[in-house]
Amino acid sequence: MNKIQKLYEFLINKLKSYNSDLSLVEKAFNFANYHHRNQTRISGDPYIIHPLEVAIILSEYYMDEVTISAALLHDVVEDTSVKLEDIYKEFGQEVGFIVESLTKLHKITPFIDMGISKSKNRSITLLNLKRLFVNTSRDIRVIIIKLADRLHNLRTIHYLSPEKQKRIALETLEFYVPISQKLGIWKIKSEMEDLAFMIYQPEAYNTIKSYIDETIKKIEQNYQEIIKTLEQKLNKEGIQATIQSRIKTVYSIYNKMTKRGVPLDEILDISAIRVIVNAINECYLVLGIIHNLWMPIQDRIKDYIAKPKPNGYQSLHTVVYNDYPIEFQIRTWSMHYAAEFGIASHWKYKGMSSWGEIEKIINNWKKELEGIENINLENIQEDVFSENIYVLTPKGDCIELPLGSTPIDFAYKIHTEIGNRCSACKVNGKIVPLDYKLKNGDIVEIIVSKNSSPTLEWLKIVKTSYARTKIKQFLKNKNKKGYVQKTYELFNNLLKNLKEKDNINLEDMINLIFEKYYRNAYKELEDFVLAVGAGDVKIESIEAKIKQILQEQKTSKLIDNSQPKKSDILLGGGVLYRFAKCCKPVLPQKIVGYITRGNGISIHNQNCPNIQNLNSKIINLNWDDVKDKKPLSLQIIAADKKGLLQQILKVISSKTVNITSIEANVLDGKARINIVMEIPRNISIEKLKIDLLKKIPDIIDIKN
Ligand code: MN
Repeated sequence: MNKIQKLYEFLINKLKSYNSDLSLVEKAFNFANYHHRNQTRISGDPYIIHPLEVAIILSEYYMDEVTISAALLHDVVEDTSVKLEDIYKEFGQEVGFIVESLTKLHKITPFIDMGISKSKNRSITLLNLKRLFVNTSRDIRVIIIKLADRLHNLRTIHYLSPEKQKRIALETLEFYVPISQKLGIWKIKSEMEDLAFMIYQPEAYNTIKSYIDETIKKIEQNYQEIIKTLEQKLNKEGIQATIQSRIKTVYSIYNKMTKRGVPLDEILDISAIRVIVNAINECYLVLGIIHNLWMPIQDRIKDYIAKPKPNGYQSLHTVVYNDYPIEFQIRTWSMHYAAEFGIASHWKYKGMSSWGEIEKIINNWKKELEGIENINLENIQEDVFSENIYVLTPKGDCIELPLGSTPIDFAYKIHTEIGNRCSACKVNGKIVPLDYKLKNGDIVEIIVSKNSSPTLEWLKIVKTSYARTKIKQFLKNKNKKGYVQKTYELFNNLLKNLKEKDNINLEDMINLIFEKYYRNAYKELEDFVLAVGAGDVKIESIEAKIKQILQEQKTSKLIDNSQPKKSDILLGGGVLYRFAKCCKPVLPQKIVGYITRGNGISIHNQNCPNIQNLNSKIINLNWDDVKDKKPLSLQIIAADKKGLLQQILKVISSKTVNITSIEANVLDGKARINIVMEIPRNISIEKLKIDLLKKIPDIIDIKN
């Protein structure tokens, strides 16, 4: 009988022990065996040995026949002429979907290696790669097959070059081990760990390994006697139990040494005796029997059955003394499978009927992966795993983006300059349009050009608010003056159309619209003016708001037709006052003051509903009498032109502003003018800046 037949028979026998219908597995084996027939592994083995071994590993976890069949077929699409459609057609939706996901994962795999060795942001990239890996998998069985695949490749790694071995070992330790740990598949995790550690740090591995071997030799006989004694005693008590001696892995001892600083020769508990029974009450019976036979060490008895570990681990632990300290772990079979197989144990115990429960576990795991490694409120608020995609740079950095993102979003996420210079994009080696919707695992390459720059069109394409902000910033900086002018024109036209141009001061109206309706959306008047000019604010909505304000002013004129009232009090100096937050009064609204209890005067719009019934405490106010002035220093940078200073002074002095000092010099052909002044409370600094920008075309920048 040849090797293939032997392994296949071994697999079938194992499957028969827990599975009655093997027709799908048989079909999958014949199919894979046929299509891999002319291929060999580097070891010289026929290729089919590899998928067979992977299936055997999975049968140790009692995986269902869908998983076993998909494992047998896992390299067929990648390595032979078979098409994915053929798999769906021959083996149905479930197997097809798993094989499809595995084929996708195969494409990502080189980036894991690159992400580990070359990425600039290694830890973020690794985290994102893990998410990409999980996202691409979708069905947990895909990940479990992938882990078994990796384990078998590690077992046969010595056929590869030493350099390649090291890289695969590191990738295993950094990527696959943490995933198997998260899924609780300890058996795969610890074997992978030791195999990878042996390759990655052979010297440390050998030192620890020979220490373990020597120690085992010393205690071996003692252990055998103990096991024998316990076996006889349990037999007599009628308890059916399986007793195993379990040796710690090399890597777990290495971890204990490095993480807790324990020297090697002080690590005594390299072995433990495991007693597996059928029922929980038997666990406690066994514990009592052990304590009767040997002296327990105080404080080393742990009841993880009554109080499981946070990861769900259950067992009774105790350490007794018999020449050496000896640890016992007592558990039921279901506790045992849960501890060894983690998520994979669900197939043994519940089968496919508990799919919902498995998904729950996986979702929790995903959240945990999210929460622990990257505390980011924004990410936690949205369901990252359904809303986000993970794409790759040609260098192996894995980038996280919201679903629906485009190459432009990607470019800005990499760097603002790359975004601003983005001219075209290649996805998986092919040129795509800039509005292409990126998909999980896409390899994205941005082509930059000095002559490219963002356009208004991009704002419609991008998905992330980050890219949007950056594009707007670029457009505004580039077209600052143009946008300011456009806004003024726009408002001018609106007022003209409403036949109100002669009655209303243009700047007052812009200021009023901003203060009343857009204060929350834009931090400063300048932002608002630029946004209007850039077309971010709908003209129709501005028009509606102007109409509303005009209407309000007309009504208030109807009520109060008189000239501005004389103020009852002069504000400023010693009188405490503030502007009410409810109505935020600004010019040219009429204002009144409300005398608060012990908090000075709060200034309201005359029509503010909050003060309508408080007549006795209301005083008349006039904007001119809000005397308090604030000092302001402005630095103006402008092209050095004749008459510039006069122009500036003209604009400023038209605003009842007192200029206290002025200083000007010319550097590199640019005039720098520093002006210190006092401006009244009712004049906004932003408005003054806008006014200067608008009226004096030579101004390049204003800072305060
Ligand atoms: Mn494989």
